[in-house]
Amino acid sequence: MSVKSTKKKYMACKTCKRIYLDQPCPDHGDSHMTDDWYGFLIIVDPVNSQIARRAGITTEGTYAIKVRQ
Ligand SMILES: [Zn+2]
Repeated sequence: MSVKSTKKKYMACKTCKRIYLDQPCPDHGDSHMTDDWYGFLIIVDPVNSQIARRAGITTEGTYAIKVRQ
């Protein structure tokens, strides 16, 4: 009997810090992806979000707080 793993992996882009599920960053590619990250923030309204402004985020999405380079 074989067990197929269906566990998906969340990876963060080292350059833009966006988090992707089982796919490389469309802007920076597979070589920028890492699973060595922790914490995340979800930005839904970057224009009016102080957190987004402080983090320099201008587009909505899910971002890692810390990404090891
Ligand atoms: Zn990226």
